[in-house]
Amino acid sequence: MNDDGDWSNNNISITSTISFIEKMMEKVMAGQDISFQEAQTLLSTREILTLARCANIITRKFNGDIVDIESLVNAKSGNCPEDCSFCAQSAFYDTGISKYSLLPTEKLVEQARNAKEGGSTSFCLVCAYRSPPDKDFEQLCESISQIKKRVGIEVNVSLGFMTFERALKLKRLGVKRYNHNLETAKSYFAQICQTHEYQDRVNTAKIVKEAGLELCCGGIIGMGESPSQRLELAFSLADLKPDEVPINILIPRAGTPLMFRNNLLTDDDIVKTIAVWRFIMPKTILKIAGGREFHLRDNGKYILQAGANGIISGGYLTTGGNKHNKDIEMIKEIGLKV
Ligand code: SF4
Repeated sequence: MNDDGDWSNNNISITSTISFIEKMMEKVMAGQDISFQEAQTLLSTREILTLARCANIITRKFNGDIVDIESLVNAKSGNCPEDCSFCAQSAFYDTGISKYSLLPTEKLVEQARNAKEGGSTSFCLVCAYRSPPDKDFEQLCESISQIKKRVGIEVNVSLGFMTFERALKLKRLGVKRYNHNLETAKSYFAQICQTHEYQDRVNTAKIVKEAGLELCCGGIIGMGESPSQRLELAFSLADLKPDEVPINILIPRAGTPLMFRNNLLTDDDIVKTIAVWRFIMPKTILKIAGGREFHLRDNGKYILQAGANGIISGGYLTTGGNKHNKDIEMIKEIGLKV
């Protein structure tokens, strides 16, 4: 019943909303892009089940039933000279994390082997740098080459800003994908980071693609941006044509400027955001990353039926996460494959 007590008008409104969502789904399935305004209408819907169902249909059509499972290793932790206000690894904030310099090759090989044995299809080496010093970059190249030779798992990396020459070297070593996130909408970026520009991030994203690496580029939602700014980020990402988009949900970390952010996203906000991002990027791996367990508890499976088709498993850079076998059981339980 609507506010006037009129059932019939309310039913018409629900019917037209469902019909709009299905029309948008058909548009996407036919290979056409939705507009910013259409995405806004989708995001404002209360018909979450229909939105999730349609996002799931798009996901299955373009991406099949496979869920991409990735393990991360924090190969160099903390002391990053940038001031990203969500990040526990920034040298600007006292967050109490364990800080260490670049892990030795043997340790990284061992962790890659554990990831493979645990069921991960890819292994991402992440380092907290603005960009690696030459000595560390050479050591990382040696570690990547040993992992490729001795473990045989897909290797991805996230090393900060890149030059074309370095990106080309990583490509030649067999790195598949380079992660560099836009973090947030361009119109909100200055509220989150002052030590570099949004354009610096876009430049690295373009460089790694030019070098022939696949691009993994996403961001963090729930940092105080508006729903429209979440869409702005999605459209900026879509312009870069990334192969993978990691979607993190802010965990306010003690010691960071965002530690007191208390208007956290609801489960509905998260499901709707991911579902609409699927309409915007139908063929990309949408990977639900940091914040999955913190925000959604054991409801992560619903996201995999509402547009997402990838997860990070086994923990994150500075927070723990589900064990691999728990995530693999979850995926099988909903009829998807790893
Ligand atoms: S550049 Fe990366 S590691 Fe450094 S503070 Fe920003 S998000 Fe954290």
